[in-house]
Parts: sequence; C-alpha cells; structure tokens
Amino acid sequence: MAILIAIDDGHGQETSGKRTPAISALGGRVIRENEFNRKVADLLAIALQRCGFRTLFVAPGNADTPLSTRTATANRANAAAYISIHYNAGGGEGVETYHYPGSSSGKRLAEAIHWHVKQGTPQKDRGVKSANFQVLRETKMPAALVEYGFMDDPGLDEARLMIDPKFIFESAEETAKGICDYFKVKYVEPKSVTPPPPVTPPVEGELFVVQAGAFKDKKNAEELAERLKQAGFDAIITTKKA
Ligand SMILES: [Zn+2]
Repeated sequence: MAILIAIDDGHGQETSGKRTPAISALGGRVIRENEFNRKVADLLAIALQRCGFRTLFVAPGNADTPLSTRTATANRANAAAYISIHYNAGGGEGVETYHYPGSSSGKRLAEAIHWHVKQGTPQKDRGVKSANFQVLRETKMPAALVEYGFMDDPGLDEARLMIDPKFIFESAEETAKGICDYFKVKYVEPKSVTPPPPVTPPVEGELFVVQAGAFKDKKNAEELAERLKQAGFDAIITTKKA
C-alpha cells in the first residue's frame, strides 16, 4: 500500500491575527496566512499523489480545526509522516523548518524538506530548528513544520510572495521533493503545460481574428474567456448586434 502523508494547512481561513499587514503595493490588500497554506497543501497533495503517495488532509474546509483534532486524525490513519504548512510572523525574513526536539526521524524529514525549500526563489536560510510545537509533539509519526516566509517581513516582499502562483507552486513541489528524498521515493516531475502556439504576425492592414464563441448571456461569454485565459490564450469580450 502506498505511503500515507498527513497534510496540515496550519490555520482556519479566518483565524484571528494570522494575516499580513495591509500591503500598499497591493492597494491595501491583507493576505490571510491560510490563503497561502491551503494552496500549497492542495498542490502538495497533487505532487505527492503523482509520486505514488497517498495523502490525508487533517484539516479540510475553512474552519480552524483544533490542533488536537489534526494530530489525532493523522495518528488514527497511521500516516507515515506529518507535514504542517505555515507562514511566519514576527518581523523577520526567510524560511525555517521545525522538528520535535530529540526526534531523529523528524529531524531527517525536516532537513530533507528544508534543503529543497531553500532552492528556487532566493530567501534567507534560517535553518532547521527544533521546537515543542503541539503538532510535532502529539504526532506519532515523523513530523515537520515549514515556515515558508514571513507575513510581516521588512518591505513585505515575502508577504507578497504568498499570492505569487509561481512561489506557491514551487513551495509545494520542493516540499514534495523533500518527502520523496526522506522516503527514498523517486520524485516525478509535473507534466509540462503546453504553451499556446505562437501567434503569426498579421500582414499589414489585415487582421485574422479567431472567434471562439458568441453568446446571448454575458456570463457564458465570461466563462469561456476565463477558460481560454486559463489555457494560456488571450481572450477579450466585445459586443455586436445579434
Ligand atoms: Zn501559521
């Protein structure tokens, strides 16, 4: 049977305090910690399943599942490892990964994940640390808690990374690589997304327009445009007489 990995997305969507300050570069936007944690958790599950693992979300949904419920869920399911996804606060910057003090397997797991998480986007390396955190202490299996950056770093550069799709994806894949290393499982690369075909420049004075659909209902047009955008194409909505 495939190895089971328990994934913990840190907090509830509305957990008080767990958010960035207002980011003026984003028009005053406040990013909740769980916005990042949840996306990484979801992509980590996809990556791990691609590599042959089974996954278990110990806190599905938006509620702030108690930590004791999270660890009990992982223990009951006999997960082989427990991964807790967080974004730090306190005014520092950089990435750090925790294990339970004295847990040699937890330390190896944390080290394996941390090594990969340091790759990609350059960040300050705060190292692998031990801490008596509840999710590390109450889990029967090796556990690692990753702080991928700071929500309140000076300049709020890391705070802004929390909604950067490239950084979110990279964080999940790096974590999966670390878990693969720890379990000596071969990491399987994600299937590359096929880029849209190059656009041939129009002959001067002539434009070749590709029309993808025409709808009476604006909502249907918007849905198609969104699907095209997600597939990597440009899509604009114009109107004409029916
Ligand atoms: Zn957190």
